[in-house]
Amino acid sequence: MSAPASVQLSIVIPVYNEEANLPTLFARLYPVLDGLKRSYEIVFTNDGSADRSIELLRAQFKARPDVTRVIDFNANYGQHMAIMAAFERVRGDVIVTLDADLQNPPEEIPKLIEKVDAGFDYVGGFRINRQDSFFRTYASKLINFVREKTTSIQMTDQGCMLRAYSRPIIDAIVRSGAINTFIPALAYSFSGNPAEVGVKHEERHAGVSNYSFYGLVRLNFDLITGFSIAPLQYFTMFAMASSAGSFALVVLLLVRRFVFNLDRETFGVFTLLAIVLFLLSVAMIGIGLIGEYVGRTYQVVRARQRYHIKETLG
Ligand code: UDP
Ligand code: MG
Repeated sequence: MSAPASVQLSIVIPVYNEEANLPTLFARLYPVLDGLKRSYEIVFTNDGSADRSIELLRAQFKARPDVTRVIDFNANYGQHMAIMAAFERVRGDVIVTLDADLQNPPEEIPKLIEKVDAGFDYVGGFRINRQDSFFRTYASKLINFVREKTTSIQMTDQGCMLRAYSRPIIDAIVRSGAINTFIPALAYSFSGNPAEVGVKHEERHAGVSNYSFYGLVRLNFDLITGFSIAPLQYFTMFAMASSAGSFALVVLLLVRRFVFNLDRETFGVFTLLAIVLFLLSVAMIGIGLIGEYVGRTYQVVRARQRYHIKETLG
């Protein structure tokens, strides 16, 4: 990688199987940035794409080597890791992230930069007229609500990746060495005066979302468990309340049977079985939740290399 001369603006774009979107992205993004009359760089991270994305990025690097840089992962490490790798290398005073699928129109970038110029250190976009499936939109609203209740992060739209960060925020994110991370929330936790702006949202230009249902669940686990231990505390309270309840129920059954001599026929196996199953299910949820935290500790402790870069251009 060439000597780090600083630039005014860095654009960070994770790319995973986006061959159908890259040509349009290039055609729309570069003119917007050229129009800003600032020195800039665009850092693309190819997140182990299985299609021709890397060839298209290579060609683009040839066409605009002055402002294009490419990080090529050897495998798929996920959107947030792809962004993290770019953050560790960007040279801009202001850094903007966006998606490669044109759901975040590049034409909205100047709006964010204006806010950073006005003195805000972290500017989050929120999607006006979100163009996603009904399920995605509502699941995301629910997660927003849970996050609001369990963490101290205040954000209108955590899922919007069109965001601008000032240099000190990026430095703090990189220094944190976070592994399972949800970048918008991490940035928020370092920000002194965050702001938000409404940005347009378009349908995915081509292809389908790279997030499976499982991927979304994982990502949101990262968001909630990565920033608070509230789920664990709620769970403990729930478990305490329910075991108190079951204990009371057992006492009640015993009293009915042996003090008032009732339920002679029905008392027995089935009642107890029901109680045991209930307690067992509570225990199972608890084990899963504890496992989530233990897993995180394990990942931090073994300090595994987070990603592997095959090649960098620019
Ligand atoms: N992405 C990535 N690695 C992944 C999944 C996604 O780099 O494992 C990139 C993808 O190329 C896009 C952005 O992250 O630029 C958002 O992905 P996608 O559009 O699939 O997510 P959605 O918009 O459905 O949340
Ligand atoms: Mg998308």
